[in-house]
Amino acid sequence: MKETENIGAGEMKTCTRKMRLSDLKPGDTGVIIKILGHGAFRKRVMEIGFVKGREVRMILNAPLQDPIKFALMDYEVSLRRAEADLIEICDLDEWNGTGGGLGVADDKEESRVGETSCDVRRDKVINVALIGNPNCGKTSFFNYVSGAHEHVGNYAGVTVGAKEGTMRHKGYRFNIVDLPGTYSLSAYSPEELYVMRYLREETPDVIINVVVASNLERNMYLTTELIDMNRSMVIDLNMFDELKKSNARLDYDALGKMLGVPIVPTIASTGWGIERLLDTVIEVYEMKNPDTRHIHISLNPEIERAVSQLNDSLKKDPEVSAHFSPRFIAIKFLERDPEIEASLKKNPNYGEWCEIREKLETKTKRDLGEDVPSAISAEKYGFIQGALKETMTGSAANDEKTTKVIDSLVTSKLFGFPIFILVMWLTFWATFRIGSYPMEWIESLISWISGLIGKYMQAGPLKDLILDGIIGGVGGVIVFLPNILILYFFISFMEDSGYMARVAFIMDKLMHKMGLHGKSFIPMVMGFGCNVPAIMSTRIIESRSSRLITILINPFMSCSARIPIYVLLVGAFFPAHGATVFFGLYLLGILVAILTARLLRRFWFKADETPFVMELPPYRLPTAKATMRNMWSKAEQYLRKMGGLILVASIIIWALSYFPRYKMEDVPASYRAEIMADMPAKTLQTADKTKIDEMVLTEYQQSQSILGRTGKFIQPVMEPLDQTWQSCVSLLTGIAAKEVVVSTLSVLYVGDDDAEALSQRLKTPSAITGKAPFTPASALAFMVFVLIYFPCIAALSAIVREAGSWKYGLFSFLYNTILAWILAFLTLRIALLF
Ligand code: GDP
Ligand code: MG
Repeated sequence: MKETENIGAGEMKTCTRKMRLSDLKPGDTGVIIKILGHGAFRKRVMEIGFVKGREVRMILNAPLQDPIKFALMDYEVSLRRAEADLIEICDLDEWNGTGGGLGVADDKEESRVGETSCDVRRDKVINVALIGNPNCGKTSFFNYVSGAHEHVGNYAGVTVGAKEGTMRHKGYRFNIVDLPGTYSLSAYSPEELYVMRYLREETPDVIINVVVASNLERNMYLTTELIDMNRSMVIDLNMFDELKKSNARLDYDALGKMLGVPIVPTIASTGWGIERLLDTVIEVYEMKNPDTRHIHISLNPEIERAVSQLNDSLKKDPEVSAHFSPRFIAIKFLERDPEIEASLKKNPNYGEWCEIREKLETKTKRDLGEDVPSAISAEKYGFIQGALKETMTGSAANDEKTTKVIDSLVTSKLFGFPIFILVMWLTFWATFRIGSYPMEWIESLISWISGLIGKYMQAGPLKDLILDGIIGGVGGVIVFLPNILILYFFISFMEDSGYMARVAFIMDKLMHKMGLHGKSFIPMVMGFGCNVPAIMSTRIIESRSSRLITILINPFMSCSARIPIYVLLVGAFFPAHGATVFFGLYLLGILVAILTARLLRRFWFKADETPFVMELPPYRLPTAKATMRNMWSKAEQYLRKMGGLILVASIIIWALSYFPRYKMEDVPASYRAEIMADMPAKTLQTADKTKIDEMVLTEYQQSQSILGRTGKFIQPVMEPLDQTWQSCVSLLTGIAAKEVVVSTLSVLYVGDDDAEALSQRLKTPSAITGKAPFTPASALAFMVFVLIYFPCIAALSAIVREAGSWKYGLFSFLYNTILAWILAFLTLRIALLF
């Protein structure tokens, strides 16, 4: 998505014809672009000169096709086929030809560092992966260095999937990948599996292992696994500010030497220390770092013996240990990691390995009374404790007073829920109330513009297109930008401060009653922003059935695209009780979600309880910069949507309501008579014949347009909800995006006065029928329908994608729409009683 945004076009060498060194035919030449494979192998081939940007020519195959002889610089080397298979190359012609374009900026950058050789420049790309526990600051780091605006939040599971970014530092280009957080490298949760597969397939040049300085013991478990993996690595001792504030002192240089991995302290949220960290990454990449060495974290003698037996056997088969070090594979095999297990199963020696493992398992059970994985992790924790004992004094455990005090309030039995409800109410009050001021400014700006156009442009289809289609459609929605930003400000604050994790915590019990987990509540709150990322964030939920339920109830969380509709109608019909109606709608959404979850658990998915501990991170005051960045990126997204999807949709809707064109002669007399019969007396008295003719024509025009016919076709279904054909059409077009509902209303209800605000037009009785487009009751029913009826295309496709089957999409479509109808009907009936 964001890959190459902040480097100019043409600077990057892309290779479309990637292949492996083993694919070269005799006499052919390729350029090395990447060395796959793990530590020891990489180091060796790089030492003999296989580095990025070098040309290699294949000379010949050995008689049995293995090994292969290559010419590299001025000498010849022979590689086994399996090894050559781990070197990725690019076709020479492509590399020298079209792929050329090393940009001007690049030249400047390079000459600054004093490098001139073109070949050297090509070498200078470092692929870096950020790996660490959830919530340790990886995304903050990523955003800081790459200038990206990825989602940061103070709870586990914010990042799903990998995000790539680029940056330059000291003549190198860093390709940085932000990965989801994991506690260890195994194949249990989706994130862990993701990271493991990433490490296997992508083989980053240097791993930045981000650890939380104030919680080293747990964070370093992952580090021990990465050490087993034997990859080039730097440890980022992040949140160093928290360590400094505590009374603990850590000699991180000594610790780094002990681990054989350099450690650099940083504060990712402000960027402190990141420069040095990147310098260290370069050092490690160039193999010039004095602290880097490979250590073995020794396990108990029995396990160690089994590991080394497996090790020897694994080493014999280069295929097996191509991507991970044999030691890592051996330990994972002993831990019965399903992923590693599967990759070894086909090997002829598999049976032998299993024997070694079974022997070890019985022995450990007998001698230690525990299973092998726990024995291994106990040893590793022992190692970490030992290392910390030597290098750290005092305790860094985060026993911050503020966190304790706040938690005793917000998670208490008595105040927990009231505080949460208050926070939500405040959020919606601000969204509606505070947002209404800037909204008015934008509104008057837009009506000023349309006034100008109305005055100076010549009448005709083009003027109609600009006024009714574009300004009506896009302008009608853009005024809600402030409201949406305010909502995002609150959500972002809740996420960043750590309050969101508490919300999940206090909701846990309630969620259990629905057969879900507190964790499911986070996607729900995120859904207030946009359902699409919220549905994606359900990946933090391990249990499949809980995840599916969370996905299916997410559309009931009223997303920000629905805000324009509410603000519009609430502002027009319930100005005095704005925040309450607003809040009521959101609450209704939550209620429907809860009920739906219960029903789904009861009738579709069997109960399952996956126990999971939710971490409660210490509270952290979000930085203004991060919050602003978040809001800015939301604003940008919104404006982009306006300029793209909404603009196109508005023009299409306008065209569909504008064509075919009719003249006065086309209007049948019967139609005219029908309209005249319904026309209010006031209009008949005040308007002259030409004016009335004009109105009748407009009415005929609209109702005979493609959109009008469609609206009239579906209107009977919505008749019991007291909806006009225009509102039916807007609901239909809302499939594309919920904002389009407002654009459509704005295009269809063109007032006499172009500059009149849409909210005004919606409550003014029409001169022709004498009826206003909405009554308070029908507006309420409309809002309820909008809240519940099926999600927009983007959300629907997210559901299908994440749930893995179109049948869930179909369910969401049908269930939500039918339910929306029923609830809107009830709302209308109840509202009419008052
Ligand atoms: P990720 O889950 O590893 O991607 O972590 P995030 O980047 O989402 O950050 C988690 C939380 O820690 C956010 O609330 C950040 O604002 C905060 N944070 C990140 N780095 C630091 C740091 O160095 N110091 C402090 N005090 N907070 C940080
Ligand atoms: Mg993250």
